[in-house]
Amino acid sequence: MNTMRLIDTHAHIDELPYIEQSLERAKTKDLVAIIAVGSSFLANMKVLALAEQYRNYVYPAIGIHPHEAEANLEEAFKAIESNAIHCVAIGEIGLDYQYAVNKARQKEVLEVMLDIAKKYDKPVSLHSRRAWDDVLSLVQAHGIKKGVFHWYSGPIETLQRILDYGYFISATPAVDYSRKHKEAILNTPIERILLETDTPVKYSGVPSEPSDTARVLEIVAEMKDVTASQLADITTRNASNLFNLSTQDT
Ligand SMILES: [Zn+2]
Repeated sequence: MNTMRLIDTHAHIDELPYIEQSLERAKTKDLVAIIAVGSSFLANMKVLALAEQYRNYVYPAIGIHPHEAEANLEEAFKAIESNAIHCVAIGEIGLDYQYAVNKARQKEVLEVMLDIAKKYDKPVSLHSRRAWDDVLSLVQAHGIKKGVFHWYSGPIETLQRILDYGYFISATPAVDYSRKHKEAILNTPIERILLETDTPVKYSGVPSEPSDTARVLEIVAEMKDVTASQLADITTRNASNLFNLSTQDT
């Protein structure tokens, strides 16, 4: 019998109320690794501590989410620079034009993050809501070759350029009901898809946790007309390669 191996490639586990229990449930749903993404100075510190505590299961990514761009970030920038080397990615970073944070400031912060990613040769985990083209232009301008446009729900034309450039996109549980997100996943070859939950984001009113990656797997497998086990193999390989994970057999 085939054992499945899944990776939640974008989870704010620092925000989960019962981390230990959620990780135990994730293990029962075939999760072999979780990429914990930070979004602020404090979240990044928690992510680093959790990655230490759950070594070889929780892998850290640190960054400044665009919603945090107007905070005082001096200390946060220093901490990201000094810990980048120990992380599997820089993220969650990006732009959000739906959110009322000064756009110029968002771009400034993103550029600092991209410089760090470039310097330490790390992939990026990107938030790009309603700013898809600007995020793509900036990552390209900074010479970042490896990254994922998480929960991509933008135009197909931009998606095509994202894929041509070699980036991944990731599927969340919203693939079940979001027309735009579904359309993006349908237009992306599975060799470029990652699975994620964006834990603890609520879908249809229910808070998510990493174990919900299994649900995303089922939905996407059906959409792409492959077996769950085939999709698990490919998306886990995609994630292991992108984040340079050393989980056994991946
Ligand atoms: Zn997120």
